[in-house]
Amino acid sequence: MRKSLIFFLKIGILVAAAVWLAQRPGRVTIEWLDHVAEMPVGIAAILVLLAAWIAATLGRAWRILRNGPGALGRRRHASRREGGFRALAQGWVAATAGDADIATRSAKAAEKLLREPSLTLPLSARAAELRGDESAAAGYYKVMLDKPATELAARRVLLTQAQDRGDRAAALEHARRALELRPKADWPAKALADLEAGGGNWLEADATLAKAQKVKALPKADAGHRRAALLIEEARQAHASGRPDSALQAAQAAFDMDPGRVPAASLLARLLAKAGKHAKATKVLEQAWRLSPHPDLARAWGDSAADQNPLSLVKRYEALLALKPGQADAHFALAEAAIAAKLWGVARSHLEKVREQAPTTRVYRRLADVARVEKGEGPETQAFQNQALSAAADPRWRCSSCGTSHSDWHAVCDECGSVDTITWPKLGRA
Ligand SMILES: [Zn+2]
Repeated sequence: MRKSLIFFLKIGILVAAAVWLAQRPGRVTIEWLDHVAEMPVGIAAILVLLAAWIAATLGRAWRILRNGPGALGRRRHASRREGGFRALAQGWVAATAGDADIATRSAKAAEKLLREPSLTLPLSARAAELRGDESAAAGYYKVMLDKPATELAARRVLLTQAQDRGDRAAALEHARRALELRPKADWPAKALADLEAGGGNWLEADATLAKAQKVKALPKADAGHRRAALLIEEARQAHASGRPDSALQAAQAAFDMDPGRVPAASLLARLLAKAGKHAKATKVLEQAWRLSPHPDLARAWGDSAADQNPLSLVKRYEALLALKPGQADAHFALAEAAIAAKLWGVARSHLEKVREQAPTTRVYRRLADVARVEKGEGPETQAFQNQALSAAADPRWRCSSCGTSHSDWHAVCDECGSVDTITWPKLGRA
């Protein structure tokens, strides 16, 4: 709009000038050396305008010639980069979708157009993996290791690969270096601690997690939970190798970090009882029981008593039941104590309570035991025995990673090597 207005304005000025000149006729004479040129004023004006236009056009052409190659190069460079980034983005989309062909083609195009290995190497490596070319992928990762911008990414992939093929030494090297590069990232600390724990180096693993917790690479609760698992194993190891003080110290630390952790509380209570600190052992078990009642805690409750007289133990289990009235594991433990004290009626009434809440194998076995003593091998005993066979299995420790059942808790699953994955099933428990 504005441009056309200016154009019409220019035409108007030209027409006005032409009219003005036509109304004032005259001639222009130019004398130069021996030449004389004579023409009407109008023609002379047109010639002057023409000369001005030619001069302006020549000036513009000169400017384009002078700046042209650079500007052209810049434009070409920008369009190459744009194409390179487009190829890079398409390559990652294809790699995510598992399309090896497009990922490979895009990686090659991006490499050629961008010429920035730190941007394209990860895609080239991933594309090589997708098409199953492991040696090419390894080559790319090797180059990535030498570049500061890509080293951490390469370490992470190579760490996982080393773990998958069971190469502990290589995995440890990648995890240590990754932790050096990024002390505040959570995965290198977790991976290193898991590798150290897998090798039975509980204290090293604990120190790694403590450092990670300090720099806030891991949330306090998360680190505390994992560290408690490692310290329980450290305490067991110390106890088995005749270092009672170290064992007690590690078990106490594990319990302080995670008081609801059953293996920590039961181990600490047993170690305290062994050291003659029965009252303290009872306090530990009471605290843990309130947080998470469990058959292992119930057993430790009896084992850590100073007075092992069967009738005293029945009294002690009555106190445990009073902490959380109605709790099935307390009823069961009390029934077992009553059986040991030959209080058959008491045992049966508590077993009936367990049967209402959690009718699993163990309760029918004990009911059969009581019936056998009271009525011999009659039909009632036989019926309980049959029910024990057909009842739901008692809950056991189970690895959440591989699903294997374990009779005892361990920090590392001996079936799949996962760390801190053995848990007590929530279902089927009162
Ligand atoms: Zn497992």
